[in-house]
Amino acid sequence: MQRSAAARAELLPSLWGAAYSILKVMKRIAIDMDEVMADTMQRCLDLYNSDFELALTPAHFNGRSLFETIELDHRAHVASYFQREDFFADIEVMKDSQSVVRALSESYEVFIVSAAMEVPCSFAPKYEWLQTHFPFIPSSRIVFCGDKSIVCADYLIDDNIRQLTAFRGEGIIFTAPHNLRETRFRRVSNWNEVRNLFLPESDRSLIAGR
Ligand SMILES: [Mg+2]
Repeated sequence: MQRSAAARAELLPSLWGAAYSILKVMKRIAIDMDEVMADTMQRCLDLYNSDFELALTPAHFNGRSLFETIELDHRAHVASYFQREDFFADIEVMKDSQSVVRALSESYEVFIVSAAMEVPCSFAPKYEWLQTHFPFIPSSRIVFCGDKSIVCADYLIDDNIRQLTAFRGEGIIFTAPHNLRETRFRRVSNWNEVRNLFLPESDRSLIAGR
């Protein structure tokens, strides 16, 4: 029986979907920014120690975040750091993140996914930070959102337990002082461990030989 033009048109999206599933050989990795690619906590800590003439280090956190560690009446002051124009621009890049993200991009679909809605004024500074330190990541692969349950990816590398729990693929926890006691996710503690987890030895030797 011959299908009508309307029925054929309805069939097209499902055919495209099936073709996409068959052709999609690259797995997709979503990567968080703060405390994964960007050493945001250290930036806060440096400002905090300077402003209050302290010498606090992550060793003092004892499984808590910086925000949970500091005195209650200092919290509003620390929260105000995120409103500073120069705050994001001066955040250091996590060691080895640039080379590993670049290497991952050759074998995976890499998306940068930041819960930037938590600080709406951070959109432009975060985008500029990525342009400066990760210029090889196209704008189309950058996602600013609030709840990462919306993200469609195979893996999410993130330090935030709430986002990892909401995510529908496999969450990979990136070690930070506040998540040391978490045991539900595969854990990476630095970018070399990310490389070891996602890139086979043969890929790494090829990249190193360039
Ligand atoms: Mg984070």
